[in-house]
Amino acid sequence: MSKSKQTLLPNGPPRKLPDTPYIDVIPLGAGQDVGRSCILININKHVIMLDCGMHMGYSDDRRFPDFNQINIGSNLTRHIDCVIISHFHLDHCGSLPFFTEMIGYDGPVYMTYPTKSIAPVLLEDYRKIQVEYKGDSNFFTTAMIKACMRKCIPIDLEQVVDVLPDLKIQPFYAGHVLGAAMFLITSGGHSVLYTGDYNMTPDRHLGAAHVSPGLKPDLLISESTYASTIRDCKRARERDFLKKVHEAVKNGGKVLIPVFALGRAQELCILLESYWDRLKLDIPIFISAGLAEKANQYYRLFINWTNENIKNTFSERNMFDFKHIRPFDNKTAESPGPMVLFSTPGMLHGGQSLQVFKKWCEDEKNMIIMPGYCVAGTVGSRVVAGEKRIQIDDRTYDIKLQVQYMSFSAHADAKGITQLIRQVEPRNVMFVHGENAKMEFLKARVEKEFHINVYKPANGERVTILVPELNTFTVPRAMYQQALATDSHPHKRVVPFEAAIQENKDNRTVELVPVNGVIEDEYLYNVTYSEYVKVESVDWAHFSKKLRPIDPDHQIKDDGLDLFCSSILLTHGEEDDHLEVIFDISRTATLDRIYRAIGAVKCA
Ligand SMILES: [Zn+2]
Repeated sequence: MSKSKQTLLPNGPPRKLPDTPYIDVIPLGAGQDVGRSCILININKHVIMLDCGMHMGYSDDRRFPDFNQINIGSNLTRHIDCVIISHFHLDHCGSLPFFTEMIGYDGPVYMTYPTKSIAPVLLEDYRKIQVEYKGDSNFFTTAMIKACMRKCIPIDLEQVVDVLPDLKIQPFYAGHVLGAAMFLITSGGHSVLYTGDYNMTPDRHLGAAHVSPGLKPDLLISESTYASTIRDCKRARERDFLKKVHEAVKNGGKVLIPVFALGRAQELCILLESYWDRLKLDIPIFISAGLAEKANQYYRLFINWTNENIKNTFSERNMFDFKHIRPFDNKTAESPGPMVLFSTPGMLHGGQSLQVFKKWCEDEKNMIIMPGYCVAGTVGSRVVAGEKRIQIDDRTYDIKLQVQYMSFSAHADAKGITQLIRQVEPRNVMFVHGENAKMEFLKARVEKEFHINVYKPANGERVTILVPELNTFTVPRAMYQQALATDSHPHKRVVPFEAAIQENKDNRTVELVPVNGVIEDEYLYNVTYSEYVKVESVDWAHFSKKLRPIDPDHQIKDDGLDLFCSSILLTHGEEDDHLEVIFDISRTATLDRIYRAIGAVKCA
């Protein structure tokens, strides 16, 4: 095993490694921030990069994750076992061509089929803005995007992929945008669930996130964009949106709605289209040229990823063939009279939406509706913050148009995040992709409700999570042959069998034996023993923390701790600094580890 894998950051300072199994996590981006998602994890000595995003709020080095910490030249590919991309949004995949083609990572990259087919389109759009409008010279080329995408391995939802013999990944439906997935990473009996972006309620074209309940990962890494929000009823928000648009165009104004190519654009188009139909309005609605066709093509291709309603009606009527919505070209922006325009990109950080904004922003009849989150530093975020004078390129604009911010982004809110935690029952939670203050709010709430540790590391800050040590058992051949023989379904993948665990007291090992072979043994009769130990001081909360790696499911009682379903009880002894330990004989081997963990010494 290379030393660098154990330390996760090959260029970081040396460290003392824990004696027990652990999972290491370091965000290289999206730590207490939204943008450039990139999280490095080490599970069972395997290093995995979760997302490789770009920060839209910066145009200097900070737009990429901090790769300096892992850039070890040609050894990089050996250091990182795989990269996983959760979805096509650029703050999750925007740095991938830079990482594979310019930094030189040459190993596997996994993503779902829709992500693989849509990501290169967005990457190319963004490259054009950066290089052709902004003159960025340290940026990837079209050829690099193509070369990068050739390295990406597309996978199906819920398909289990063996990255290495003892490293598995599995994607689950995340809602959010077409192709978005959560990923379960498993190795050595331990697991991490990474959510990417997700939403727990279905919207007009996609379903809600769906993971197998009770996954019980050692760690859940969740986005937390809307961690402090419990959003109002969605219908009310939609009504509000339609009313605002209608009022503005009735007064002769132009309405600009900056959107990303896929996702909210389609949802809001469906909404506006049916409203225009109902009220028989004839004010023109435009969408960036090529956008509707492109989107349509992808939704047709990946119809199975949309919600039931769209799937069912697709054969008779394509929801995305709009009657009222027409393609837009730049000349249309100059034409007089009211109109509605859906234009990319969504955060006004360049491209057409910014060009149009510059033309329309100084007229108070006009309106801009920001339908999603804007990363700090973008023109979009300054508009939402209510700035009245904004410098763009070399001119200062007086912002007179009406500004409306309505969050339609498909992110889980506080309720959705806690719902996911309840569903998957993680042992630890980590928040990324959110603002620090909002994370703090939800951290307190989750710790209180679920009694688990919640982490929210900043970029470059390592979190080490100790995970329970696992025992592996050898099943004697005769035992599993008998189990297989008694099961009548030859194709069944799960065959139950009965066995007892027998401890060898001489060498402290355990083995499986047939149940009827040990029936005479004393521990089957549940004989309990007790002994006294001396500690520095009795502090149950402190002991509980120390014992979590040994038994994560232990319970704190009024007068002590209950481990392994009452087979070990720690309670007050006769002296203030004494504990009485009551234990099932089958647990003798564990006692020493417990005493070491809490600093207890056996009384003579
Ligand atoms: Zn996203």
